[in-house]
Amino acid sequence: MDTLSLEEARARAQQLREEIDYHSYRYYALDEPEISDAAFDSLMRELQALERRWPEIVIPTSPTQRVGGFVLGEAFEPVTHAQRMYSLDNAMDLDELDAWLARTRQAAAELGVGSAGGEGAELAYVCELKIDGSSLALTYRDGELIRVATRGDGTTGENVTANARTVRDIPLRLRTALSGELEVRGEIYMPHASFERLNEAMHAEAEQSGKAPRLFANPRNAAAGSLRQKDPRVTASRDLATFMYALADNGAVPVQSQWELLEWLHGAGFHVNPTIARCSTEQEVHDFCVRAIEQRSALAYDIDGVVVKVDSFALQRALGFTAKAPRWAIAFKFPPEEKTTVLRSIVVQVGRTGVLTPVAEFDPVLVAGSTVARATLHNLDEVRRKDVRVGDTIIIRKAGDVIPEVLGAIGSLRPAGAELWDMPGECPSCGSPVFRDEDGVAYRCNSAECPAQRLERLSHWVSRGALDIDGLGPKIIEKLVESGLVTDVAGFYRLSAAQLAALETGEEKYVRAMPPERRELLGDWEKEPVLLGETVAAKIYEQIQASKTRPFARVLFGLGVRNVGKTVADTICRAFPSADALTAATEEDLTQIEGVGPVIARTVVQFFATPDNRRLVEDLKAAGLTLERRVGVAGVAGVGAASADGAATGEEPPQTLAGLTFVLTGSLERHTRDEAEEILRSLGAKASGSVSAKTSYVVAGPGAGSKLTKAQQLGVPILDEAALDHILATGEPPA
Ligand code: NAD
Repeated sequence: MDTLSLEEARARAQQLREEIDYHSYRYYALDEPEISDAAFDSLMRELQALERRWPEIVIPTSPTQRVGGFVLGEAFEPVTHAQRMYSLDNAMDLDELDAWLARTRQAAAELGVGSAGGEGAELAYVCELKIDGSSLALTYRDGELIRVATRGDGTTGENVTANARTVRDIPLRLRTALSGELEVRGEIYMPHASFERLNEAMHAEAEQSGKAPRLFANPRNAAAGSLRQKDPRVTASRDLATFMYALADNGAVPVQSQWELLEWLHGAGFHVNPTIARCSTEQEVHDFCVRAIEQRSALAYDIDGVVVKVDSFALQRALGFTAKAPRWAIAFKFPPEEKTTVLRSIVVQVGRTGVLTPVAEFDPVLVAGSTVARATLHNLDEVRRKDVRVGDTIIIRKAGDVIPEVLGAIGSLRPAGAELWDMPGECPSCGSPVFRDEDGVAYRCNSAECPAQRLERLSHWVSRGALDIDGLGPKIIEKLVESGLVTDVAGFYRLSAAQLAALETGEEKYVRAMPPERRELLGDWEKEPVLLGETVAAKIYEQIQASKTRPFARVLFGLGVRNVGKTVADTICRAFPSADALTAATEEDLTQIEGVGPVIARTVVQFFATPDNRRLVEDLKAAGLTLERRVGVAGVAGVGAASADGAATGEEPPQTLAGLTFVLTGSLERHTRDEAEEILRSLGAKASGSVSAKTSYVVAGPGAGSKLTKAQQLGVPILDEAALDHILATGEPPA
C-alpha cells in the first residue's frame, strides 16, 4: 500500500467503494450475496486502511462512514428510528481487541473509573455471542407489541410488524408490567437445521416447477429474506427465532448495567442468549472469546464473533458513539478463512517429471492464522476456470488451517487490459518446447537436460520416502550441480567427504571480526565464501553411504519413473526381482501384474529402454546400491525403517498405526490416494472413505470439501500432505 501515490490511493478507494456498495446492496437489499462475509470484510478493511493512511480521500458517502443497510421502499412502510441503530466496530484479532480494551481502560480512568479491585467505580465488561442474523427493533406500548422494524440504514428501517408477529419467541405482551413506550433490540436468526430444511424444500419445489431454485446463501440471508416476505404466512413457515440484548433508551427500565438489562429482558419474557459472562478482568474477556471460537461449530445457529460491552450504563453514556458505532462496545470477529489480495504474478514451476505447474504469487495476506504469498493453481484448466489474471484482486481461502487456495477473482476490480494467462510455449527453466499431455491437462517439458527437472529429480532421490539422505537440502544440491560434481543421482555416490567439505554453500562471511561500521565501509571486500566444512560433510557422506542399503523398491521409486509412486514401485519389485529383470520386461509382462495398467507399463518400459537411464542403472549398481530384491521382501516401498527391516528379515512392517483410522480427501501431490492408503494399511491403520467421530485423522489436500468441513465440525485433527509424508516415511503416528 505504501508504494501507492495519493492519486492511485484515491482511485483504488473509489473502486473499492463502488464494489462494497454493490455487495452491500446484494446482501442487505436482495439477501443474495455474491461473495463471503470474510471477503467482503477484507475489501472493507482495505478501504479503511487507505482512508486512514490518506485522510484527505475520505468522503461522507464512503461505506466506512455509515451503517450498511437498505430500505427497499416499495414493499414495507419506512420507520424512522427514534434512536439511531448503530453497527459495531470490529476487532479482527485478539491484538485489536487488546487495543480496544486498553483505549477503554484509559478513557474510563480519565473518567475516574478503575478496574476491579481499584478505587472508585468498577470497570467491567459483558461478553455476548455475536449472533449472525439481522437486527430488529420491537416497540411495546403499555406492555403490548405495536411495531417491529429492521435496522435499515440505521436511521430508517422497514416496518415488518405483520411478519415479525408470526415469530414464536417474540412476546406479543411483556411479562413485566410497564407503562409508556419501550423499544427492545436484538437479533433475528434462522437455526442451521431450519435453514437446511428450507433450502431443501425450495430445491424440491423448483424441481417440480422446472425452474432454477432460488436458494439462500446462508442462514443470515435466509433470516433477513424470510422476515421481508410479502405474505406473513410465508414468514410464519420459516422457523425464525430471536435473541434480544438491548434497549433503544437505557433509561426506560430501572436497570443500571448491561448485565442487569439482560436479566430484566429475560424476566420480561424475551429470549436472551444463555452464553453470556460478566468479566471483571481482560483475561476473562480473552478466555470468553477463545471459548466461543471453540464452541462455535457445536451451536445450532451461526455466530460470527463475540460482542464485548462496557457493563455500566453510566460509563457507556460517558464514552458515547462515533458516526457509525458505540465506543463502549466492540465486535471481536472470528479469524476469517478467506481474504482478498492482489495477484502479482503467475510463475511456472517445473516438476521432476517435467510437468509445468502455474503458481500464484500475491501480496502476502494473513489467512486463518498464518501469512501466505503463494498458492498453486494446479494447471492451465484451473487458471481458466477460475479466470484469474495478473493484477486481479483475488480471494484466498485456507480451509482448516491447511493449504492456501485461490478461490477466484473479483471481476469488477480487474484492472483495464489484464490479459488472459497462458502456459509458456517454452520451458521456463531450459527453453525446450512445452507439450500438452495426451490427457489434455498437463503441460510438460520433455527435455532430459532440463535443469529444473534435474534438481527436482535429485531432490526426489534424497527425499524421505525414497533414498532418505538427510542433510542434502535443495540449496546444497543446487551447489553440487553448479560445481559440476553431480549431474545425475549416481553422482552422489562418487562424492568424497573432502569434496563435500570444500563445497561453497553460497553464503559469505567476514574474514575477521569487526565492528558493524567497518563492515559497511569494507562492503564485500573482506568477505569469503562459507564452505560446508568437515563436520557437516562427514555426516552427509555417511548418510549417502547408508542409503546404499535401502531396498530395491525404494531405489525404483527414487528413480522417479513417471506414474510410479511408492506402492506401484513395491508392486513391481515383488514381481520383478531385479533391475535387470525389469529392463528385460515388456509392456505385456508388466500388465500381468495386478495394479499395473497399460499406462504405467508403457512409461516403465520407455524408461528402461532409454540409453541414459540404462547407463544410470549400471552406475548405481557399480556404486553398490541395492538393485535386486532381497529374499523374503515384505516391506512396503517407502516405509522408512519399517521396510528396511522388513526387507532384511522378511517380516511385515511393524503395525505402528494399529487402531488409527485415516480419511484422505482433496488432491495429493506426491502420492495417489490409493498408494497412500495402502501404505497406511500396511502399517496397521484403517483407511476409510467417510469422516465420523471415530476418525483419528483427516489428511486434507487442495480442493478438500465436505469431508474437511465435517472433520472441523467434529474436531477431528487435520493433517497436511507434509505430515502424511512423514508418517509414510517413518511409520510413526502423528505427534
Ligand atoms: P456487524 O454485523 O459486523 O455488527 C453489528 C451487528 O451485530 C449489530 O447491528 C447487531 O445486529 C449484531 N449483533 C449480533 N449479536 C449482537 C450482540 N450480542 N450485541 C450487539 N449486537 C449484536 O455489522 P453490520 O454493519 O450489521 O454488517 C456487516 C456484516 O455484514 C459483516 O459481517 C459483513 O461481512 C456482512 N456483509 C456481507 C456482505 C457480502 O456481500 N457478503 C455485504 C455486506 C455486508
